Amino acid sequence: MKLDDTSDPAAAPAPAPPGAAPPADPLPVSHVRSRFPLGGRSIWRGVAEAQWNDWHWQQRERVTRLEQLERVIRLSDDERRAVVDAEAHFHMGITPYYAGLMDPEDPTCPIRLQAVPSAGELSSSPVDLLDPLAEERDMPVPGITHRYPDRVLFYTTHNCPVYCRHCTRKRKVADPTSAAAHAQIDGSIAYIAHHTEIRDVVISGGDPLSLSDDRLDDILGRLRAIPHVEIFRLGTRNLVTLPQRITDDLVRMLRRHHPVYVNTHFNHPRECTAEAYEAARRLADAGCALGNQMVLLRGVNDDPRIVKDLNHRLLMMRIRPYYIYQCDLAQGISHFRTPIEVGRRIIRALRGHTSGLAVPYFVVDAPDGGGKIPVNPDYVVRHEGKRWVLRNWAGKEYTYVEP
Ligand SMILES: *Cc1c(COP(=O)(O)O)cnc(C)c1O
Ligand code: SF4
Repeated sequence: MKLDDTSDPAAAPAPAPPGAAPPADPLPVSHVRSRFPLGGRSIWRGVAEAQWNDWHWQQRERVTRLEQLERVIRLSDDERRAVVDAEAHFHMGITPYYAGLMDPEDPTCPIRLQAVPSAGELSSSPVDLLDPLAEERDMPVPGITHRYPDRVLFYTTHNCPVYCRHCTRKRKVADPTSAAAHAQIDGSIAYIAHHTEIRDVVISGGDPLSLSDDRLDDILGRLRAIPHVEIFRLGTRNLVTLPQRITDDLVRMLRRHHPVYVNTHFNHPRECTAEAYEAARRLADAGCALGNQMVLLRGVNDDPRIVKDLNHRLLMMRIRPYYIYQCDLAQGISHFRTPIEVGRRIIRALRGHTSGLAVPYFVVDAPDGGGKIPVNPDYVVRHEGKRWVLRNWAGKEYTYVEP
């Protein structure tokens, strides 16, 4: 398909005719078995179910070294080199659960691309930036990015169960020396308490669920005690990379702090496993509102059929697709970037063709701290005075005349 078809919705793929082959992996979400669904070698085959389902065990047994990874998947020469080189750039860390979703034989597996270093990380592009969103510059106190009028980003930890190869915060995530100390957390909370315009706190990292329940409980309790803080959102990828972390104890704690929003980061339908479904169920049953922030990645999800399938599964998990992010300009992720038109084509293929609930906003988080800018396709053909000529999802034009 051409990439320059900027405004013609007819260029979007036609709806599949009845009886056409469904997209890859058509299993209903709750029936997908996560444990080595693709077979292949596994060093964890003998592990007892109880241990496998224990998130402490998953965390402890993370794959961080080449020799371990070699026993899980058959590496290409490219990957092998990149795994060694990644040590110096951005650590590798993969939970056995997430590694179990990988195709052991296929280096283009979408799960593998997100977690196993590849040669692309080592080449940099002239447009790359160390801090692509200028998060450090808009930092009034360490640990807070305050860019928008009424909400802040609050960094609580720099650890994550899996280090995503496309992470925009590579500059500090996975670096133990950059983790938020207690004093920094205190300073961040004091800043929020002092700024009465802040009504929405996005709790991020790293992954805030890397903190213990008690630590998180303490932070949420102190934020909740601030009268002008109306909502918080937990930004976490644990539902995808370590769903065992969503325990009954955790959700019991969270429900004491409502309204709590949880925004997660599913990128591919294969991540919608029975375990992920169960994690989402616990959070939703505890009254959390769930959203998804997908990152558009070449070779992973740059295809309307994959995104549609993903979003349908997310809705079955009671997770509302919230944003699709254009891949940003962080260093070492240029191999993941797609033209902006790819994302617009995905939105055109969704809008009207499926539930509006399955259609997120497509945004570019602008370099230099510009913030999130929507780049959804435009359905206004032209507008002269009171006459608006609009194009609908199926490509037909209609005129609306204002009173
Ligand atoms: C993404 C982001 C937010 C939240 O933005 P929403 O559009 O409200 O989801 C807040 N602050 C910063 C710095 C962000 O990057
Ligand atoms: S979970 Fe988020 S912060 Fe952590 S490595 Fe992945 S993208 Fe980066």
